[in-house]
Amino acid sequence: MSNITVPLLDLKPQYQAIKEEIQEAINGVIESQYFILGPEVQKLEEEIAEYCQAKHCLGVSSGSDALLLSLMALGVTTGDEVITTTYTFFATAGAISRLGATPVLVDIDPASFNILPEEIEKAITPKTKAIIPVHLYGQCADMDEILKIANEHDIPVIEDGAQAIGSEYKGKRAGSMGTAGCFSFFPSKNLGAFGDGGAITTNDSDLYEKMKCLRMHGSQPKYHHKIIGGNFRLDAIQAVVVRVKLQYLDSWTEGRQKNADLYYELFESNSLVTTPPAIQNRHIYNQFIIRVENRDELRAHLAEQQIGSEIYYPIPMHLQECFADLGYKEGSFPEAEKAASTTLALPIYPELSEEQIRQVATVINQFCAEKGQQSKAAA
Ligand SMILES: *Cc1c(COP(=O)(O)O)cnc(C)c1O
Repeated sequence: MSNITVPLLDLKPQYQAIKEEIQEAINGVIESQYFILGPEVQKLEEEIAEYCQAKHCLGVSSGSDALLLSLMALGVTTGDEVITTTYTFFATAGAISRLGATPVLVDIDPASFNILPEEIEKAITPKTKAIIPVHLYGQCADMDEILKIANEHDIPVIEDGAQAIGSEYKGKRAGSMGTAGCFSFFPSKNLGAFGDGGAITTNDSDLYEKMKCLRMHGSQPKYHHKIIGGNFRLDAIQAVVVRVKLQYLDSWTEGRQKNADLYYELFESNSLVTTPPAIQNRHIYNQFIIRVENRDELRAHLAEQQIGSEIYYPIPMHLQECFADLGYKEGSFPEAEKAASTTLALPIYPELSEEQIRQVATVINQFCAEKGQQSKAAA
């Protein structure tokens, strides 16, 4: 066994590289004793708005709350329908259900793993109040087609950009195209805080004002409540950590892209591994996803060789127990189900060494070569 270990994600080297700057920034907040919202959160909001090419940004408590707050601000409530992909992190569909609305799920494009625009169109009814495309793994959904359909039916689009900060679609940044864009600063995202945090971008000034009000229990002015909101606030310690990290985000993205390029090269002659298709847009590789037939066996083999990997996601939303009442069954969305059983996320974080990437690819290629031999022998 090789002595090169490769964790799926290790945040320590990133922290080591910017430790002094981060500690100084956090100390500043401690000295100020200004912990919730305030000037640092406001500065972060301005910077994120600019980075995402949006007019406004609102710092919030998490990516999940960003989705919830956006839907609340759009007035989504009991009896409404919201269309989204069945193949995503739970928060996307969960936010819809928490408001009493019905998630209307659709299948994915097997090449990009993103929501299929033509399936969105088929799912629209008079009850449809919003559409939530997810920019999965760091690559934007097909926004031209989605916005065309949405505009024809006058339905707002919320981009779930939790995995896609800085990613682009035809030169436009995630979070700048729809009615609102939702981001997460969960530590494992490309721009991670030291705890929970998130942001919403929008070009709609009225919607921005409404979300700002809802973020503080709908209070405006203080102690006067015309609408019911919640506590969706971002704190200053998270804001300063994210502000420091934002300065490095583009160089980290380049590191991820470089790692992805090396994987493409190393898997090129392995016909048993399907790599993501060539991307024209700016992919930020929150995840690097391959498809392989003996996925679970390969994953166990990688673990034996001290190589981390993960399955995003093993169960699509339409097969989740809590959504049984939606009436979907196995076979409802074949592409999502196929993705759930054949995809594997490999280590891609920017601080990986070339040697580590080569090790991951070597172990996988050797595994596949043995499998190829076995199936040839059986045939
Ligand atoms: C991480 C994630 C979220 C939720 O973000 P949190 O900050 O963890 O609440 C929502 N949607 C997607 C697609 C995500 O990956």
